[in-house]
Amino acid sequence: MVLERPGSPLVPRRLDRPRPGPGQVRLRVQACGVCRTDLHVQAGELPHPKLPLVLGHEIVGIVEENGPGAGRFAPGAAIGVPWLGWTCGGCRFCRSGRENLCDRAEFTGYDRDGGYAEYAVADERYCFALPPGYAPERAAPLLCAGLIGYRSLVAAGEASRLGLYGFGAAAHIVAQVARHQGRRIFAFTRPGDLEGQRFARELGAEWAGGSDELPPEPLEAAILFAPVGGLVPAALRATDKGGRVICAGIHMSPIPSFPYEILWGERSVRSVANLTRRDGEEFFRLAERVPLEVSAEVFPLRRANEALDQVRSGGVRGAAVLAG
Ligand SMILES: [Zn+2]
Ligand SMILES: [Zn+2]
Repeated sequence: MVLERPGSPLVPRRLDRPRPGPGQVRLRVQACGVCRTDLHVQAGELPHPKLPLVLGHEIVGIVEENGPGAGRFAPGAAIGVPWLGWTCGGCRFCRSGRENLCDRAEFTGYDRDGGYAEYAVADERYCFALPPGYAPERAAPLLCAGLIGYRSLVAAGEASRLGLYGFGAAAHIVAQVARHQGRRIFAFTRPGDLEGQRFARELGAEWAGGSDELPPEPLEAAILFAPVGGLVPAALRATDKGGRVICAGIHMSPIPSFPYEILWGERSVRSVANLTRRDGEEFFRLAERVPLEVSAEVFPLRRANEALDQVRSGGVRGAAVLAG
């Protein structure tokens, strides 16, 4: 399925099977997660995607062929391809352990073709061996929702009272990791989304309510997965002195102005951008130790537009995944 023009639906196209270049592997795609970032790319909210483009950066597949010089994974291995597709290795960010901020980074399903397809190629150095015990459609959401959710959780520090705004693909995985770490979860959904609030309680949230409500106790940190700028002041108001508000998405509607007093008291607001390979290695080790219940709604590849619409409208319980 191909994006030819931002703002228009994906169209089915028959493409040549991609050939792995130097250092690359070719995978037969088994499953590919649908991430909110894909919506932003499709809508033209992120500048300069490769066009035409195959979306998708939560790819699980079987290695079919190694390109020249590649050999990290044997043919037949099941591996995952994340958003971070390539970095330069030489810029000040790459040289200081912050390859997620690389000036020249290339991203899967944005600068490079991704996994809304039957085949994909990827630089083997940025792929991950997957933890055993996860079916492809349940492993796929781990590659961005899980992984960038995990990076956001690390950015939340030691906070024990944790707020999650937007209880979709990422939050439903992060909530389980956070519970495993002994944190207390307060989940915020669209006002009136009782089904979403019930889902959050099933996954261990001790309180769930609308994003226009205040939690019963002030939060020590809040992670914003919903791309709604108005949630920044809402989360600051729900957060205790010294607390952190972490914006986990790649795009957000404008943040309305707010009085300084809700930031005062050493509260901070920051974003989380992309991932490093180290985040992935840490997260997949954790996912091997802690069995995560990944809730996946599976759509056939040809129904990718419908899957995107469902994610946009908040109609998916957990993650949407393309498979078959
Ligand atoms: Zn993503
Ligand atoms: Zn770099």
